[in-house]
Amino acid sequence: MFLSSLIALGGLGLLFGAGLAFAAKKFAVQVDPKITKVLEVLPGANCGACGQPGCAAFAEAVVAGRVPPNRCAPGGPETAAKIADILGITDLETEEAKVAVVQCRGGRAEAKERFIYQGVEDCTAALLVGGGSKACIYGCLGLGSCAKACPFDAIHMNENGLPVVDENKCTGCGVCVLTCPRNILALIPRSQPVYLACTSQDKAKAVKSICSVGCFTCKICVNPKFTPNGSIEMVGNLPRIKDPNDPEIAIAVEKCPANCYVVRGKLQIPETVSQEQENSSEKG
Ligand code: SF4
Ligand code: SF4
Repeated sequence: MFLSSLIALGGLGLLFGAGLAFAAKKFAVQVDPKITKVLEVLPGANCGACGQPGCAAFAEAVVAGRVPPNRCAPGGPETAAKIADILGITDLETEEAKVAVVQCRGGRAEAKERFIYQGVEDCTAALLVGGGSKACIYGCLGLGSCAKACPFDAIHMNENGLPVVDENKCTGCGVCVLTCPRNILALIPRSQPVYLACTSQDKAKAVKSICSVGCFTCKICVNPKFTPNGSIEMVGNLPRIKDPNDPEIAIAVEKCPANCYVVRGKLQIPETVSQEQENSSEKG
């Protein structure tokens, strides 16, 4: 009795095993070897910056020609070149690598709070409670959702309640940009030497009453005396840098009474302009 049960079970096992082996062969999905190769050169961060659910989906999409090879921000131009090589693409357009910047300098010490928020440590959740505790409706909420979301551990919150981007770790994937409910983070080209760290569209009086480092629309930076090439313009109540690589904006940046501009690269005041500026201020 025991022996016959054993033989029957063994036979069933063999039968099912053979069936599974046959099904595996018959219904095997053929993977394009190019997909495997592309997958091998990707950073494997699965950050979704390319607009696909992960690296495998990106590899499939890029081989199918649905997305261009240069969509992997963490991989940058190097990975794009490797993918182009695998796919035999010779005219690949490369974009300059980007880095995330924080467009708000109003931390706990500089920006007023309307109330004490004691809810979930999440910026989007905090925003749902009366529009956030910060008096400035444009300012950073300081709960670090961007830092938690960064797949590369490139953002840390400082003691003043503001995010700080570690440019050595940032891959420009843009996950933080998508996460921030206040649009405080932005991606700029790595070579861009200066950016404006304020997004407030409030009028001067309102800004001054709630933040000591907010742009209060004094318009000094758009004054042709300081930006002779017109490289900074006003858009609503906020200046916009049209040409961050114009060396002449260095004067305007220096003149900003609220220190709203953050200089992250070389921004030298050209000697000729500096002299002209001195002369004109002496005259009047
Ligand atoms: S800081 Fe932002 S852009 Fe940079 S790696 Fe982190 S999530 Fe990506
Ligand atoms: S930058 Fe945005 S996500 Fe990050 S702490 Fe500030 S409000 Fe929150």
